[in-house]
Amino acid sequence: MIKRRASNVEIKKINRNRIFRYLNKYGRVSKPDISSELGISMPTVLQNINELMKQGLVDEVGEFQSTGGRKAIAIAPVRNLHYALGIDITQNHIGVVLTDLSGDVLKHKRVYKPFINNREYYKEMANIALEFKNSEVGPNKEFLGVGISIPGIVDTRKNKILFSHALNLTNIETDIFTEFIPYPCILVNDANASGFAEMYHYDKCFNAVYLSLSNSVGGAIIVDAQSYLSESSITDKLYLGDNLRGGEFGHMTLIPNGSECYCGKRGCVDVYCSAKTLSKHTDGKLETFFEEIENGNNEFKQILNQYLSYLAIEINNLRMIFDCTIILGGYVGSHIEPYISRLKEEVAMLNTFEIDASYIKPCRYRVEASALGAALQHIEAFLCTV
Ligand SMILES: [Zn+2]
Repeated sequence: MIKRRASNVEIKKINRNRIFRYLNKYGRVSKPDISSELGISMPTVLQNINELMKQGLVDEVGEFQSTGGRKAIAIAPVRNLHYALGIDITQNHIGVVLTDLSGDVLKHKRVYKPFINNREYYKEMANIALEFKNSEVGPNKEFLGVGISIPGIVDTRKNKILFSHALNLTNIETDIFTEFIPYPCILVNDANASGFAEMYHYDKCFNAVYLSLSNSVGGAIIVDAQSYLSESSITDKLYLGDNLRGGEFGHMTLIPNGSECYCGKRGCVDVYCSAKTLSKHTDGKLETFFEEIENGNNEFKQILNQYLSYLAIEINNLRMIFDCTIILGGYVGSHIEPYISRLKEEVAMLNTFEIDASYIKPCRYRVEASALGAALQHIEAFLCTV
């Protein structure tokens, strides 16, 4: 492919964007640091910092300790002027998360609200979200929009939810979800949103598979996530497949002719690796299951061992296909850390090429990863415009 050379205007824009993203990532830095880290000349750095200061996006925040010469001025991003909200819709709950340019969960809330596909539900959902937003975001702040995470296949180009088993929806216009929200809205698949949230703060991790181990098993395939110099959106960094079903790891066959899956087939990964496999022993409460193990319940330890053996097969299969970092998320991913070395040993024994499985990572966000990932769609879209 022949690449066109970028024009001066484009180069200027790319430099400003790189400088702001660098600042936004590292917080408090000096101008010479920016220049040497990004390989951009000092005059260009100074010019861009001045422009960003005029826009209110960066500020001078004191001086660094002198290392001999003149003290360098510390520059920092102004992250708390731009906000976005994420909503996570599940069968029985609505989760809400607020974030700003830091990309962190600033505040979150979860309410019991069983999903019903009617206008009253969508109105109530909007009320919950807008009340939360109004109580946290002052009128002098910039509100970028609302991201909505859905447990289903979302076609963002056609504005449709093609299918959601959890919400019992087929071929639904996304507009009905957003009718009562007077801000820009983006709908995303929940596992894709969670996977994106996980990748957002990773350094030097370009490709990843996010394996969501909640009441159903799903996932996301993230490609080239840190190549943030292009103006592509988050969804452009996900491999979605030809039919938007890429990452449906829950319905890979783990055991031929095994137990029946909710999808109607037999032996799916979902049957053996969903959180329900464990929580069904403790009335649906996964916390209780892991508490019992900590209290020395041997029967539950064996159940967990069996679970980890199945999970190891799935992880090894994913590693063979994708050859990248594998992040374990969802309900089980939030509890997996104490058992992860045992899991890694099992995976390593299955692997043809590798003797350790350090590529397996527990998820960073234990609550509201998908709502955060949905909100981050707006943050990322804004960062692309700087
Ligand atoms: Zn299935």
